[in-house]
Amino acid sequence: MKNMSFHDDFVAKRCSVSPVSAVTVGAGVQWEELYQAVFKQGKVIVGAGGVTVGAAGGYPQAAGHSPISPAFGLAADNVLEYEVVTAAGDLVVANGCQNEDLFWALRGGGGGTFGVVVSATHRTHPPLTNLAFAVYTINATDRSSFLDLLTNFAVIHPSLSEAGWSGYFLLSSQSLQLSRQTLLVLYILPNKDVSFAKSTLAPFLDYVEKHPKLQGNGSVVSLSSFQEYYSQFLCGGQNSCVNSNNSAISAALSSRLIPKSLFDSRKSVEQLSDALISILERYPASILGAFVAGGAVARPREENAVNPAWRRALLLAIISSGWSDGASLEEQREVARNVSAANKLLIDLTPGSGTYINEADFNEPDWQQSFFGEHYPRLQAIKSKVDPSGLFRCHHCVGSEKWSDDLNCPRSSE
Ligand SMILES: Cc1cc2nc3c(=O)[nH]c(=O)nc-3n(C[C@H](O)[C@H](O)[C@H](O)COP(=O)(O)OP(=O)(O)OC[C@H]3O[C@@H](n4cnc5c(N)ncnc54)[C@H](O)[C@@H]3O)c2cc1C
Repeated sequence: MKNMSFHDDFVAKRCSVSPVSAVTVGAGVQWEELYQAVFKQGKVIVGAGGVTVGAAGGYPQAAGHSPISPAFGLAADNVLEYEVVTAAGDLVVANGCQNEDLFWALRGGGGGTFGVVVSATHRTHPPLTNLAFAVYTINATDRSSFLDLLTNFAVIHPSLSEAGWSGYFLLSSQSLQLSRQTLLVLYILPNKDVSFAKSTLAPFLDYVEKHPKLQGNGSVVSLSSFQEYYSQFLCGGQNSCVNSNNSAISAALSSRLIPKSLFDSRKSVEQLSDALISILERYPASILGAFVAGGAVARPREENAVNPAWRRALLLAIISSGWSDGASLEEQREVARNVSAANKLLIDLTPGSGTYINEADFNEPDWQQSFFGEHYPRLQAIKSKVDPSGLFRCHHCVGSEKWSDDLNCPRSSE
């Protein structure tokens, strides 16, 4: 299942739509392999930051975000067709013209739930050139200046999103030796030159420069392609990530999609900054701000099962906390309780929003609403239709409330 075939003029089977550039991948293909093949074709694709993530599996089936999502949409928005083995054992094609319900559910409803995907066809895009890449580290000397820094940084996100920026910011990280009052920003602006990029950041950078209790370092540089960004950012300066360190870490996550509407008022932005700082003060955690929503994520080409909270969001805030090898089960549970308690601060600030099933708290409260929002009833109905006996089951996946916690017994016979 490592096959990849490129198409200049892909038309989903039995559809009469305009042909598009695409690639069909077998379910065994991982993102590192697909990126390299797509770059060779002179194209780009919406894929995962983790190069070992599967290109047809849980990533596109749940949403799949990337720093180029604001330009091209989520991975789920770019899937044109799936080949699927159903619970009944049939190999079927699902696209916009046949098995439409299954196709809708497989773009946002989560992996391991609706069938075994054998291949996925992803839209490919023309290469992004002339990327501006902003890297800044800003240190604050005390809590109130850090609060002021985060608020002034967060408040410009609607205008950064308008300009086309995306990327990641990081607060506190043991592995990167970031202190608890440091903000690290790694943002890209595709198809724009450095002087335009700097002009959009100017009000914030001027503020940092003039603030007596903030110290900022960094620059905006020009990259020639998304491939260059990929090698520098993901692979530590190598052309391919094959030799980079892909070893696993042990950590518990929780996360929250931060809606664009929160940024309408400076007061709520300040509350968000205060919540982020409080999390770092109370728990040994890192926070990754994935600025990967807005733009094309807010305006998908067609409707699918992606959590509607993604469409309303600007950021996904991911809280993570790890443990060392040899930690006892109770120590691991303590870490899990901490990330849940930390996320509660963000949940309380963002009623009605949700989160991303693939980077969520294992113990997510009200998970049906959080992961699937308004789409949950339709997803349940499709699940009952395509898998009536519940052959495909996973933790906090669509329909799993019908099963015991270990997923072995139907609830009614417990
Ligand atoms: C290092 C790292 C970086 C990441 N970076 C990103 C990122 O940049 N953006 C992002 O959106 N997410 C990211 N993720 C999260 C990622 O989306 C999830 O871990 C996702 O579940 C991975 O899917 P998988 O198929 O590779 O993994 P698995 O653990 O193999 O599968 C996840 C789920 O999908 C099901 N599944 C797998 N294959 C199939 C198939 N062929 N058919 C049907 N169901 C299937 C499984 O049964 C399981 O329920 C990252 C994860 C890691 C570990």
